[in-house]
Amino acid sequence: MARHRHRVKVATLSERMELSAAEFKHLAVMRLNVGDRVDVFDGSGEAGEAELIHLDTFSAALRLLSRQDSAAEYPQPVTLAIALLKGDKLSDVVRAGTELGVSTFQLLRTRYADVPDIGDSKLTRLRRVAEEAAKQSQRAVVPGVLAPLPLSALSAAGQCFYAHPGSPGKLLEQVTWTSALTLISGPEGGFAPEDLAQLSRLGATPITLGPRILRAETAPLALLGALAASGV
Ligand code: SAM
Repeated sequence: MARHRHRVKVATLSERMELSAAEFKHLAVMRLNVGDRVDVFDGSGEAGEAELIHLDTFSAALRLLSRQDSAAEYPQPVTLAIALLKGDKLSDVVRAGTELGVSTFQLLRTRYADVPDIGDSKLTRLRRVAEEAAKQSQRAVVPGVLAPLPLSALSAAGQCFYAHPGSPGKLLEQVTWTSALTLISGPEGGFAPEDLAQLSRLGATPITLGPRILRAETAPLALLGALAASGV
């Protein structure tokens, strides 16, 4: 059976690593002891194995034993640019999207976005959700969750696709993995004509998710699910 070890986020991988208050609390709850081994990652792609060498009531430290290449990342970074959604829907997308390999979430203000903006506390919560999901899915990268931008300010290097019902294009027939990938998903009300004009100026390619209309929180996961199921 696959080994399951505790995953601990550290600031940087180094010979000796002092733990943050949050990670220290987590270790204490897990009842780890000096000598136990854990997996460590820094959130930007570095991962390895470490041993707990110090633990008292207030602090803990780890010693790095080895570095490991993370096999959990796509060959190119994947940005999910998603229109603002209401309620907890963005949390659900960030949680599942992190499991499905997103490297950056770019929140978007579009003409028909469900809400006009989100506050700092919600953004902080989304970043926490991304960190928890990255740990759970054994990724070495914690995806960034970037504050909302108007669609007109979005820039997308590499390949860029947007989901729009009735489009002829299919994602997996066009993704080449030779450059970064940006996937754009609309709000419940869809893209307005001015958004579509903006997407065309951006050079984004429209793609279908089949003949059914998916909810705004389902569509991005269908895009990412297609990538994941391709086995890359
Ligand atoms: N009436 C809206 C329209 O025609 O665009 C429906 C919007 S849908 C509820 C929300 C978003 O999910 C869309 O803007 C699009 O990005 C994506 N989406 C949902 N179903 C899709 C499909 N079958 N093909 C492509 N994109 C889809």
